[in-house]
Amino acid sequence: MVDGALIGGVAGVVAATGSMAYAVRGKSSVVFGPSVYRGDPGRSSIALTFDDGPSESTPALLDVLAAHQVTATFFMCGKNVRRCPDIARAVAAAGHEIGNHSDSHPRLHFRSPEFIYRELALAQETIRTTTNAVPRLFRAPYGVRWFGLRHAQKRLGLLGVMWTAIGRDWRWPTRRIAQLLIRSARNGAIFCLHDGRALQRAPDIQPTLDAVEYIIPVLKDRGFKFETVSQILCPTH
Ligand SMILES: [Zn+2]
Repeated sequence: MVDGALIGGVAGVVAATGSMAYAVRGKSSVVFGPSVYRGDPGRSSIALTFDDGPSESTPALLDVLAAHQVTATFFMCGKNVRRCPDIARAVAAAGHEIGNHSDSHPRLHFRSPEFIYRELALAQETIRTTTNAVPRLFRAPYGVRWFGLRHAQKRLGLLGVMWTAIGRDWRWPTRRIAQLLIRSARNGAIFCLHDGRALQRAPDIQPTLDAVEYIIPVLKDRGFKFETVSQILCPTH
């Protein structure tokens, strides 16, 4: 059920911004639930986040991150965790943070609150029983939020996480991804990349791997550290 106050609140935001699209997809929108898109600006750190895994391609990314001693945040889909449980456990064992990216990666708009809750709850349960990690962060598939998400997040203790910059690594070449991320680097930035492609098996993530390999030393040279999303959200004072 969606109550009248909620609809009224959303209508107010839509009237104020003139855009339902902003409410649903805007990275700074909190219309459908608590959400962040950047960390504490007092931290000279960047959070790398990877969506849609785990996939058969994830271990290669774990190798790159380990070689540079970088910890990151992985927003996993429950279905992918059930397909690749050992890889999900390897991500957790390497010290990375694990977030919830729904179970089957649907667009949530026009879906019922019950559907949305089930998607989040099933992923949460799968991630917990497989990796022992209990996600505290949720990234909406395609960045699409909808009525009922606020309640589902609250029941499961999840904070929404969008991004400061998104490398369109599912279609951009390495150089373009790297250029965008380097240009977007600032204190507390949250970068969104992908170690999977929705529910696809063994996706080609070579542009992502090459971009990560390239940007880590460049950004370290500029004085940035790399932290998980939970770390980067903590105020330094
Ligand atoms: Zn996704």
